[in-house]
Amino acid sequence: MSPLRLLIVGGGHASLPLLGHARRLAEAEGATVTLVSDRSELWYSGMTPEWLGGVYTQTDVTIPLAPICEREGVRFVQARAVGLDRDAREVVLADGRREPYDVVAFDIGAVNPGRADAEAAVWTKPLWRIEALGRFLDEAGGARRHLVIVGGGAAGTETALNVTARPDLHRLSVTVLEPGQRLCPELPTRVGAWAAETLRRRGATVRLGTRAEGADAGGVHLPGEVLPADAVLWATGSVGPPLFGDAGLSVTERGLARVDVGLRSVDDGRVFVAGDSASVAGREALPRIGVHAVKQGPVLRENVAQALRALGAGQDPARIPLRPFRPYPVAPLLLSTGEPSAWWIAGPVALKSRLLLRLKHAVDRRWIERYRSADTAGSRWDARHAAARG
Ligand SMILES: Cc1cc2nc3c(=O)[nH]c(=O)nc-3n(C[C@H](O)[C@H](O)[C@H](O)COP(=O)(O)OP(=O)(O)OC[C@H]3O[C@@H](n4cnc5c(N)ncnc54)[C@H](O)[C@@H]3O)c2cc1C
Repeated sequence: MSPLRLLIVGGGHASLPLLGHARRLAEAEGATVTLVSDRSELWYSGMTPEWLGGVYTQTDVTIPLAPICEREGVRFVQARAVGLDRDAREVVLADGRREPYDVVAFDIGAVNPGRADAEAAVWTKPLWRIEALGRFLDEAGGARRHLVIVGGGAAGTETALNVTARPDLHRLSVTVLEPGQRLCPELPTRVGAWAAETLRRRGATVRLGTRAEGADAGGVHLPGEVLPADAVLWATGSVGPPLFGDAGLSVTERGLARVDVGLRSVDDGRVFVAGDSASVAGREALPRIGVHAVKQGPVLRENVAQALRALGAGQDPARIPLRPFRPYPVAPLLLSTGEPSAWWIAGPVALKSRLLLRLKHAVDRRWIERYRSADTAGSRWDARHAAARG
């Protein structure tokens, strides 16, 4: 019998445990493993805002995927998946090639709403696109430039707080546009109020109740106004990528793939979806945050192995019992501020202190060091932070 084929698409936060145990899984289940990812590295979102703040280097905040694949005996295909042909059991790549599978695990993250009207902007999803913003900031130096951040949720606000704290960008003007009546509307009120006050104190403009309609070379389009910009960060939140609905899978009104508690598509026992692009049965209201994606990782790994085992035994993978994903009752968030302090937010509780920033750095470094060589991540942080912050 030819070996079963496991295809992992995306290689994001939720699929790292699967990728990191691929060799054992392949041996145990008699499978070959292939990873399709549009990038050769994964950007770790927990550290990326501080990379924009000049605290970390790009090497510190990214996980190269090829060395993991090499170690784990995984075939790595760098390509963007654009379709899923469930009849042929193939994933269609942007260049027309097709990758066959017996079981496929998608972890491709979400996409930003409204991005089709914002081709000129840097999108936050997928996160690697933010590299272009880092380049813009480095090139801006002491020049007068205008950065508009569209979306004052946690991602846009944390980015603004880090960028406005950089001493080398003293001539950069920053505007944050938020359609709601406060920054970080999904977090406790005092976090957004503190962020707005801090950003304004640092010279940034915070425009609440302002919805951007799109962005082009001329700037950001608002109702009746075009706001000139040298760079635009499109941080408008998350919707599902079109691929799932196009393949006839059940999706939510936001385009997220509907999966059961075992992260298996409710329509197809050979298809698993994890991370931001999955809507888990009974957990539909979970926010799209990396904390949940990371917690899904071991569940995805175990259940994909079960599905392969079932196929090997001639069973229907749609019918086997799977380990359920149990999210944290309250998912904690640690938000950097651009100063030597961080917010710790859990449900309605929000605390800010210097100690919490140390905790954040320890948590972030420990996580990323599990997946990348330990000689780079964060080890020079203290010196760099001291230099950057004065
Ligand atoms: C600026 C910012 C800061 C954030 N900070 C935090 C934080 O502090 N804490 C927190 O919990 N969450 C945070 N988040 C949210 C967090 O980034 C996401 O929830 C998390 O990345 C979701 O992980 P994932 O596994 O779904 O996919 P991701 O980790 O996003 O990975 C998806 C991968 O798939 C690849 N990919 C995408 N489409 C395709 C395709 N069609 N074909 C092939 N490959 C593809 C991408 O390149 C990417 O590498 C932040 C988000 C942003 C934007």
